[in-house]
Amino acid sequence: MLIKQTVDHILTDDEIQGILDAGAAMPVEFARQALENGRQAQGLTLEELSALVHCEDPGIVRGIYETAHELKKRIYGERIVFFAPLYVSNYCANNCSYCAFRHANTELARVALTEEEIREEIRVLLRHGHKRVLVVAGEDPRMSGIEYLERCIAAVYSVNEGGATIRRANVNCAPLSLEHFKRLHATGIGTFQCFQETFHRPTYRQVHPSGPKSHYDWRVLSFDRAIEAGIDDVGTGVLFGLYDWRFEIIGLLGHARYLETKFGVGPHTMSVPRLEPAQNSDLSIHSPYMVSDDDFRKIIALLRIAVPYTGMILSTRESAEMRDELFALGISQASAGSRTDVGAYAHDEAPAPDPGDLTTAAGQFELQDHRQLHEMVQSFLKGEAIPSFCTACYRSGRTGDRFMELAKSGKIHNICQPNALASLKEYLMDYADEETRALGDQAIQRGLAELPENLRKLTEKMIARVEAGERDVYI
Ligand code: SAM
Ligand code: SF4
Repeated sequence: MLIKQTVDHILTDDEIQGILDAGAAMPVEFARQALENGRQAQGLTLEELSALVHCEDPGIVRGIYETAHELKKRIYGERIVFFAPLYVSNYCANNCSYCAFRHANTELARVALTEEEIREEIRVLLRHGHKRVLVVAGEDPRMSGIEYLERCIAAVYSVNEGGATIRRANVNCAPLSLEHFKRLHATGIGTFQCFQETFHRPTYRQVHPSGPKSHYDWRVLSFDRAIEAGIDDVGTGVLFGLYDWRFEIIGLLGHARYLETKFGVGPHTMSVPRLEPAQNSDLSIHSPYMVSDDDFRKIIALLRIAVPYTGMILSTRESAEMRDELFALGISQASAGSRTDVGAYAHDEAPAPDPGDLTTAAGQFELQDHRQLHEMVQSFLKGEAIPSFCTACYRSGRTGDRFMELAKSGKIHNICQPNALASLKEYLMDYADEETRALGDQAIQRGLAELPENLRKLTEKMIARVEAGERDVYI
């Protein structure tokens, strides 16, 4: 297993700052060589990433975007995997100063969905064509502890809507103890996601003044416990806008290298949320570290080069225009048709909250991309991308290091592409209008043409099975 760099502990703030300072002092030649190494899909060392973060040479900056684009195409093809977040509870014992769910926000209407309400949400998502959800909850030992999560996930998997079921439920919840992670694993989840928010400890303390989340180490070591509990796929992230993004991406890469050194495999995914306005949160509107669109593009491109085989997830916090650009630079998974107000899908005739109106919303923060799944699918097909609803890997045991080995050998493309095309065919037949269906069939032909002959034949057979009425066809 190729590990680009050994990091045997969670980096301290001084170490991250030291790496940043060293990068700033590196000659242009070092940055050029780093980019060349990155182009080989070998990932970047912390020093290489730091040199590229600081480099302003126009040729190298252009090269960063070109390389990210090249790697995205080479490793992920034109595929984008879609999912829907499912907010189950906004009760929270924490006081994260950027989030509307925080305990001190007394104006928020608190909701924790019952199992029947969850099933109702899932029925709506299934009718839209979703196969993959991300269960999201505030942290409240009474309202969203492990018993509640177990019931939620069982409810998600229990629904069968005209033959359609959720095939992968990922979870974004607070860090759990080892025992509770074992129970979470037993529910059959895919990825456990937990964002560190910021790797800068003084900022972390400041924005998490009280509640269990105020303990930095409990959070940063949550993946160690999750992996020990048997959860192979973990998803990391930073909330960009809380502190200097340069510091944060060195922290992110340091954490990924630490997990690789300790467990032989790094994070399965990285999420890149950017701070959005949230009800009664001054910080969410006036943070001194807001990330500009230009810097955000650079963040995505640099991360794509630094960890080429880690899936990158973008949410509807970003506008439609921005999201379309970022897909080309390395994003491989996207949420679609999202709502962060608990219970909103079942009330989908209710309009999304007005942009900028933070007074009435029960949502966590403001969303920028309000397109429904069918609009996104169509828009992606027009942009020659391949929307994928694949959920095969974790059901075929391709998780953790087994997934990474396949990814790094380049063989994963031979599995993802057939699965993406078969799952797209299923979506087209069951949910798409005529125009989307025609666009989708063209995309399938393009996708087939990219495959070597033996795989093309295999994929054609998979698609024929879908056409004949079989569902959930994958390898
Ligand atoms: N409560 C759990 C936690 O904090 O880990 C999990 C769910 S929390 C609802 C999911 C993520 O939303 C947080 O990790 C944070 O990064 C993000 N978030 C919170 N407030 C936000 C805001 N104002 N803008 C964008 N993202 C935000
Ligand atoms: Fe609670 Fe998570 Fe929001 Fe913090 S980010 S207030 S922990 S829901």
